[in-house]
Amino acid sequence: MIKYTLICEETHEFEIWFSKSSDYDEQAPKGLIACPYCGSTKVEKGIMAPNVSTSRKKETIAEKQKAAMQMMNKAAAKIRKEIEDNCDYVGGNFADEARAIHYGEKPERAIYGEASAKDAADLHDEGVEIAPLPDMLSPKGKRKAN
Ligand SMILES: [Zn+2]
Repeated sequence: MIKYTLICEETHEFEIWFSKSSDYDEQAPKGLIACPYCGSTKVEKGIMAPNVSTSRKKETIAEKQKAAMQMMNKAAAKIRKEIEDNCDYVGGNFADEARAIHYGEKPERAIYGEASAKDAADLHDEGVEIAPLPDMLSPKGKRKAN
């Protein structure tokens, strides 16, 4: 089913349902579609209702995506703050610091910083527990350069 908004020669607007879009093209020239207000069979297509609802739907999806992104950014900001407040930033010394803590050379504490992929793999092999920090969760101004 497809809904058309039609306009007659007297500019009356009315809605009419067709089973398929070609119905209008077949029926209108034969004078089978009449304005319910004045009975005129000289009708033209107005704005199609399905198009209107489609664009409205798109708008809603865009709004929902925007809201979801804002929620994610808010959550990420909270995590970034947690990390900043509770962890020490060790920059490029991450691998050395993580090792020192792991082997008991330094007191246990939460740290974050930069490590190369090789460092990360080596640490993992040595049994040092590390977790990659996604860019959006890295505290401001201390994000990975790559
Ligand atoms: Zn009319």
